[in-house]
Amino acid sequence: MGRYSPELSGKQERDHGIAIGDKMGIFRGVKRLVLFLPVIAVAVCFGLGFSSCTLTPPTFYVSNPTPKAAQWLKNCNRISWLPRQVSGRYDGASALDNLNHAAAGYAVKRSSYGTAPGGYVGLDHRMLWAICDLASRGYTFRVIAIAGGSHSRNSRHYDGLAFDVDTINGQRVSYGNRYWRGFLKRCRELGATETLGPGDRGHSTHIHAAWSK
Ligand SMILES: [Zn+2]
Repeated sequence: MGRYSPELSGKQERDHGIAIGDKMGIFRGVKRLVLFLPVIAVAVCFGLGFSSCTLTPPTFYVSNPTPKAAQWLKNCNRISWLPRQVSGRYDGASALDNLNHAAAGYAVKRSSYGTAPGGYVGLDHRMLWAICDLASRGYTFRVIAIAGGSHSRNSRHYDGLAFDVDTINGQRVSYGNRYWRGFLKRCRELGATETLGPGDRGHSTHIHAAWSK
């Protein structure tokens, strides 16, 4: 900014007349266009019902962030969602069921077996936007549980604050999988305060990321 001090620009205007003024006008126009390019791209993508899994900044959606994020996720083909529980049950509370209900603007179902409390809960938008972010960074993965399934007592899953993943970039999660550590690190950068994976009890074949209340 220092280069364009009032004195200097005044001198340039005098020396070069209208030409410089025109150039500055064009420059401002291009700058404005560049600023709005992401908005145009997103509008076009949504208009065509197409998603390249390129992240829309969540600040665009100050209202209804949970359904907006869930709708974005439904259009992203880098993520798959288990349509049943890991236990094999079909109880309307699978990861896919949770996603669909959240995208439609509803609270999502919890399971009613094991330690699961049953009933319904809203999904946390920070968690959903983190999943969007991971996909937009190029990860492909499978989500096997959000609010459904039976977890440890008082698990954050039951509060709609946690998700589990068992496959990343085509590889099942295991100690030797080279992606899960980076995946969980990104979750922590995005606000997750509880991250578990191989080496943690009960997490040898899946990772878990949860946000605080
Ligand atoms: Zn979990």
